Amino acid sequence: MTQIRPLIGKAIIEGTILCRSGLHIGGSESALAIGGVDSAVIRDPLTNRPYIPGSSLKGKLRSLLERALSLPLNRSGGGVSRHECNDGACPVCRLFGAAVDPRAEKRRNIPSRLIVGDAFLNEASAAELEEIDGNLPYTEEKTENGLDRLTCAANPRQIERVPAGARFDFRILYTVENDEEAAEDLDHLEALLRLLEDDALGGGGSRGNGRVAISIEKVLYRSLATYLGSETERELDAASIGESLAETLAAKKEN
Ligand SMILES: [Zn+2]
Repeated sequence: MTQIRPLIGKAIIEGTILCRSGLHIGGSESALAIGGVDSAVIRDPLTNRPYIPGSSLKGKLRSLLERALSLPLNRSGGGVSRHECNDGACPVCRLFGAAVDPRAEKRRNIPSRLIVGDAFLNEASAAELEEIDGNLPYTEEKTENGLDRLTCAANPRQIERVPAGARFDFRILYTVENDEEAAEDLDHLEALLRLLEDDALGGGGSRGNGRVAISIEKVLYRSLATYLGSETERELDAASIGESLAETLAAKKEN
């Protein structure tokens, strides 16, 4: 029997991702010829501006939590090994979701409690980047060299990157389904965003690409009653989202 998932409310986390080094999140192969770079960044087809796909950010955060909790990488597909189980209490799977495992005894799909939106270049950054003289709009070309160990011949590749200093606006939605797990989920999310600052986003992280600084600027909590019009939204403490949400939920229970 499938139980309906409760909807208690939503936490909305907004902030910016600042590139401290050049960022490379690859686009489709068909974009390779553009501008003559070997490896192009993904761009919004309407504005032609580079952006950070929600799936890239979410995938990175998920992989950091899998590692932080030392969970087994029990699934593979599309050339990627990952952790995905059918345990609804698993901190990774309840936060990021898990697809049905056809080999599992209890076949259940765990929908993600997180919705990670695409992070678009903020307007001030876009205006600055439009001033850059170069072949490619909003980005820079970086040459990376592979060195032949015998002949010392260089094999240069042109990598397209969003330059250091660019800022992207992000928005992450968290659905509160279980008020006891909500604080832990949001503590994990905050820790992952901090961990990401000492890791890398996108490609070429070990060569210095993708160092980011993340600032959480605003966190709102909207209960189900807010959507129904009988309660106003609450602003949560952006410096301790989990604790702040737990207090809000506890205060509501007392009333
Ligand atoms: Zn799991």
